[in-house]
Amino acid sequence: MTDAPSSARRRIAYLLPVYNEESGVPAFHAALVAATDTLADRYDVQFIYVDDGSRDRSFDVLMRLHEQDERVVVIRLSRNFGHQKAVTAALDACHADAAIIMDTDLQDPPAVSLELIERWEAGADVVYAQRRTRDDSWFKRTTAHAFYRVLSRAASIDIPRDTGDFRLLDRTVVAELGKYREHNRFLRGMVSHVGFRQEAVAFDRDRRHSGTTGYPLSKMLSLAGDGIFGFSTAPLRLISRVGLLFSLLSVVGIVYAVVVRLATPENAVPGWAFLAITLFLIGGVQISMLGILGSYLGRVYIEVQDRPLYSVSRVVGDPW
Ligand code: UDP
Ligand code: MG
Repeated sequence: MTDAPSSARRRIAYLLPVYNEESGVPAFHAALVAATDTLADRYDVQFIYVDDGSRDRSFDVLMRLHEQDERVVVIRLSRNFGHQKAVTAALDACHADAAIIMDTDLQDPPAVSLELIERWEAGADVVYAQRRTRDDSWFKRTTAHAFYRVLSRAASIDIPRDTGDFRLLDRTVVAELGKYREHNRFLRGMVSHVGFRQEAVAFDRDRRHSGTTGYPLSKMLSLAGDGIFGFSTAPLRLISRVGLLFSLLSVVGIVYAVVVRLATPENAVPGWAFLAITLFLIGGVQISMLGILGSYLGRVYIEVQDRPLYSVSRVVGDPW
């Protein structure tokens, strides 16, 4: 690089989605600033908060942070677009040399971001923080565990297990991601899809500092759907497999009926109960398979509409 010394300092941006975190954000920012204190000697640092249409006073709290700390940039979305799109808004605004995506509820320990930066300096393009342990509810841990196992079996690309969106992206990766404009977004999958040199750093995920989760079961299920349907056509193949299985079963049933009829001509194949159960079973299977088709069709419809991913109502500060 032949840059002048003044521009030789590399720039790091923290991308921080916020949804109803008024009670936790000041403590989060203080912890982040304390943990990243040492970075100031070597890097220019910026904190890009995205207020994802919070219903509480998060925006005012962020404005106060901006007044106190000139490195704070606040992007306010016009309504709640969801975590993945809030992060997308930050990615679109960011032109730093490296971007670090982090939750703002102190579940992602700020100190770990220093390790991510070290690995980036050592040449990695994507450094994702992989959970060694997590201090979430039993339900969340079990469902997340099951999801990652299903996903890794179904998806056509290798999506690392037990990683959230807490990760560092080199600017080249951020630029590539900018080309992915799908609506049903599953950033973890997209980052894997992009390629480049990707490395993992293990960490222990903490309990939420304050407030409540912005990911209730319904949002978790829809994110899981975006992961599986967005990165795999395995469910579509499943339909033909299930169809084949039932066709084979019916051949067995036909042979059985014929044999029984020939062997004991006086009584036909008995069992209206068997008939009724089979009918319900086939009906259930058919409707579930239609549901799979519907999931893809719905996604196609949303993509075809091609609406903007999010709308920004205010930008406070100047993201580089
Ligand atoms: N979040 C967001 N929009 C939403 C829901 C959540 O920007 O619609 C933010 C939230 O403020 C937090 C991060 O995304 O910084 C992760 O959300 P949360 O902690 O609620 O999810 P969990 O850790 O329970 O999966
Ligand atoms: Mg959280």
